[in-house]
Amino acid sequence: MESVTDTLGRPLRDLRISVTDRCNFRCAYCMPKEAFPKDFAFMQREKLLKFGEITSIVKAAVPMGLRKVRLTGGEPLLRKEIEWLIKGLRAIEGVEDIALTTNGSLLAKKAPLLADAGLDRVTVSLDSLDDATFRAMNDVNFAVERVLAGIEAALAAGLTPVKINMVVKRGVNDDHVVAMAKHFRGKPVILRFIEFMDVGTTNGWRLEDVVPAGEILKRVTAEVDLEPLQANYKGETALRYGYADGVGEIGFIASVTQPFCSACNRARLSADGHLYTCLFGTQGHDLRRLIREEDASVEQLTEALEGIWRMRADRYSEIRSDDTRDLPKVEMSYIGG
Ligand code: SF4
Repeated sequence: MESVTDTLGRPLRDLRISVTDRCNFRCAYCMPKEAFPKDFAFMQREKLLKFGEITSIVKAAVPMGLRKVRLTGGEPLLRKEIEWLIKGLRAIEGVEDIALTTNGSLLAKKAPLLADAGLDRVTVSLDSLDDATFRAMNDVNFAVERVLAGIEAALAAGLTPVKINMVVKRGVNDDHVVAMAKHFRGKPVILRFIEFMDVGTTNGWRLEDVVPAGEILKRVTAEVDLEPLQANYKGETALRYGYADGVGEIGFIASVTQPFCSACNRARLSADGHLYTCLFGTQGHDLRRLIREEDASVEQLTEALEGIWRMRADRYSEIRSDDTRDLPKVEMSYIGG
């Protein structure tokens, strides 16, 4: 089958799969405590896609051009026996890259199991090295050293390159960007600075809280020599820079100030089987119903995915404005970043 493209000529290459809507952190830019209190009604187990259903959807998307799978959440390592899902995905011909995004809280324990199961690499969210700031940002008083231990365990297990995601919010952790760049200099990790985004409807996003990537770059290069690097592939979200002394890399994900929708080849699958064609989507496509109620085969799922993707026209970050602010956008913790 020739590669299927959407209305803007973009192929589907990358599927981000949320395996749970639960998380043990309450980061204000994603899952604020006010909107997700202790007694929040998270999905019941029977509502979650089973591992076999997830692998069927991935198998169905490979003929369309899918090559990369990223496991997300909530916090994906809260999903029991996720290693079995990774083994199942690893066995699918055509899947070239399996990554996982985590808050790192369970990584120190899980890293060897994940590597044995066939996971290629991990991305760890780390919003500051300052313990007080980190504890305040995860809002569950979780110590930064435990996440740093998780990063070391991932490196030791060969889940590389390890990427570090820092969401930068003005007046909260923006003073820590230089310290992060200096700390990871010379280490085999890729540090990415992410502009604070208006995902979902609960994180109280304001444009004035966004620190543009250009400003972060200026702050970092005032103390650390960086050189621009070529993109690794079309559709890569990060603007890449290398340390001038050649050891290590930094990326900037500038969804607000430098949108990258024109080459966006990503879709997202919620833990209960709804496919979203944009991180800022308002409507998902219910694949779980096709599987459970219509007993759809892999071939029929391919047809359904093709139909959805051919109609896709998303480019939210390019059209972001006051008019889009109050759209009923899906929560990031529901579909993963
Ligand atoms: S805003 Fe939507 S279309 Fe644009 S890059 Fe993000 S996910 Fe892709």
